[in-house]
Amino acid sequence: MRITDVRTAVVEANYDWTFVRVYTDEGLTGLGESFLAPGLTGIIRDLKPLLVGQDPLDVDRLFSRMRWAASGAGSVAGVVYNAISGIETALWDLAGKHYGVPVYRLLGGKYRDRVRVYADCHAGEALEALSSVMIPRRPRWLPPDEGLPPAGPGDPVHGRAFGLEEPGEAFTPEMYAARAREVAAMGFTALKFDLDVPNPHTIAPHSGTLTHAEIRHMVSLVEAVREAVGDGVDLAFDLHWRYNVSDAVRLACELEPYGLMWLEDPVPPENVEALRRVTRSTRTPIASGENLYLRHGFREALERGALDVAAPDLQKAGGLFEGRKIADMADAHYVAVAPHCIASPIGTVAAAHVAAAIPNFLALEWHGMGVPFWEEIATGLDGPVIREGFIRIPEGPGLGVELDEEVARRYAREGEPFF
Ligand code: MG
Repeated sequence: MRITDVRTAVVEANYDWTFVRVYTDEGLTGLGESFLAPGLTGIIRDLKPLLVGQDPLDVDRLFSRMRWAASGAGSVAGVVYNAISGIETALWDLAGKHYGVPVYRLLGGKYRDRVRVYADCHAGEALEALSSVMIPRRPRWLPPDEGLPPAGPGDPVHGRAFGLEEPGEAFTPEMYAARAREVAAMGFTALKFDLDVPNPHTIAPHSGTLTHAEIRHMVSLVEAVREAVGDGVDLAFDLHWRYNVSDAVRLACELEPYGLMWLEDPVPPENVEALRRVTRSTRTPIASGENLYLRHGFREALERGALDVAAPDLQKAGGLFEGRKIADMADAHYVAVAPHCIASPIGTVAAAHVAAAIPNFLALEWHGMGVPFWEEIATGLDGPVIREGFIRIPEGPGLGVELDEEVARRYAREGEPFF
């Protein structure tokens, strides 16, 4: 069997869901998904000559082939790996179909039949839609009277944006509590909220600093969510790399009484020592990893004890087999893995195959709550992808889930090829 083509399709959802399909001379195809990035489908097209004519079952060799080509071009991390991850996933789907087994079997077999999902409630709004550089945008399918601001120039949502405009309206503890109750009632046993949201006590935005009153407001949001859901639901909060070390430590220590599952990305992502200082200064577990690529990206953080929870994104960190390897390395340091995921059902189920196949799995992210067609775009399963806060691992060959192309076409991104 030889690879004959690699094609992409992009669906405009809350993010640009970017699908990769690998074609062969035997008519078998494989489907994968890449984490969004500027110029992503162009990178996938550029990688195609490395794959055409090759045996698709040599997944790891083809991964290395792409990796070393990218490395020669200066990419030892970054968005080239978003492209490689989608292709690699498509190769596993293809291999599973060829051998007639689910992908988790090819990753070592399963530890669990169903994978625990945590619902990302971000800041409690119905939908947050972002461009490939995290600028808010308005999907063209959203009715004009629904909740989002019109698309236009704006600051990136996450991290220190350095815009001049005033921060938006603050969220109240009551709003967070109501959202938490609503989502917990859907059956989820774990929730995540953003905590770096507009705060009525902010004096120096984008500075990485927190006033005492800001910290108290953040604590009140966490307290409200904990009181709303009780002790039976695990809670995580995301800080999106926004704060300096000492203020992140002050906040993390103040949150200790609430028994968080984790506090995510308290400090900017480039400095392992800074992250380690936060992690070592608090009993609140610290999670990070969505900006790290490959085992090599996680190595130092794990070796130095900078992480309590590793959160690789399997649509960007190098793919499914690399995800398994990252999990193994984390396991050797007694660190749990909670994959970051903002994918469609295709990428989410792909990540669930890895989650099923690793011992040290904690929870898998679901970031699609505000997307009305999230479930509709998946086909091939005997029911919804997520049921009562869990994904039952498909037993069909490959990923066991396919794209409903009729639905996907309806939301396809203009100006991008559709396979
Ligand atoms: Mg995050």
